[in-house]
Amino acid sequence: EHLIDQIAAGEVVERPASVVKELVENAIDAGASRIEIATAGGGKTLLRITDDGCGIPEDELRLAVRRHCTSKLAGGLDEIATLGFRGEALPSIGSVAKLSLRSRAEGAAGAFEIAVDQGRCDGPRPTPLSRGTVVEVRDLFHAVPARLKFLKSDRAESSAITDVVRRLALAEPEVRFEISGPDRTPTVFEAARDMTERIAQVVGQELRDNAVAIEAEREEIRLTGLAGLPTFSRGNSLQQFLFVNGRPVRDRLLVSALRGGYADVMAKDRHPVAVLFLTLDPALVDVNVHPAKADVRFRDPGLVRGLIVGALRQAFGEAGL
Ligand code: ADP
Ligand code: MG
Repeated sequence: EHLIDQIAAGEVVERPASVVKELVENAIDAGASRIEIATAGGGKTLLRITDDGCGIPEDELRLAVRRHCTSKLAGGLDEIATLGFRGEALPSIGSVAKLSLRSRAEGAAGAFEIAVDQGRCDGPRPTPLSRGTVVEVRDLFHAVPARLKFLKSDRAESSAITDVVRRLALAEPEVRFEISGPDRTPTVFEAARDMTERIAQVVGQELRDNAVAIEAEREEIRLTGLAGLPTFSRGNSLQQFLFVNGRPVRDRLLVSALRGGYADVMAKDRHPVAVLFLTLDPALVDVNVHPAKADVRFRDPGLVRGLIVGALRQAFGEAGL
């Protein structure tokens, strides 16, 4: 089972940022309103995610770090409302790092801690914690040097972590996020009143003043958000934030549709700044293509592409571009 977990880890855990994504998604699924992310050594030496969510009961702590144990599939695969559902993240992380979970379930008399190292599980034992969950991941890939070699500099891994958190923060505007650590200046996104405020926090107020609002619908597929003016472009695509049914994605079709929408108004070597939310019937999209869930598969890709390209062109047209 340890080996299977390590193999699964190859899929789920690519770098510190992918661990952060899984752990922050778990905190969101747990209903947290405050999520703190602490990192050291670019997340290679330490990642600590602290949340004030519902917590994990003592008798579920061992299950949480076991393969395919998820508390989230009650409604079946078609009704996934949570971000996680595979029960793969924690066991995978535990197979390639030192993992510890401290948690106090809502209404429980006390908190408990469980530790996993090299797939071996220790606990649960009582620990002091007033609420929520603290997950610590130390020495990522220490037992898999071949994987360590593929990681980038601490600085690059750190900024990949920030990027993941920014995307999740846009998806959850009412949650407070804080990223801190000895090797970085702290980033805080206070709980926002609405998406407009969160966009200002994460992407910058300038986008609001240099963008067209996008609002379009085709066959019950909705597109909303902000598309930066062609004059407000960047040299890279880091400022493109795309969401499908509330999940941050990096889908190729969407990125290419975005480019298509700007094709007539922007130089080819420039990249638009944009925050776009696509909402559609979950039956029309498969978010389950890859464990890291960055890619999606649409039942009707042409329709989605047409909606995005059409909406952008129309908005730029109305803005006189
Ligand atoms: P999944 O998210 O796919 O269910 P994970 O391996 O990420 O699988 O987590 C396993 C289980 O551990 C979850 O189903 C959940 O019950 C519990 N869990 C993990 N992290 C948290 C957290 N921060 N707060 C509450 N429960 C958690
Ligand atoms: Mg999960």
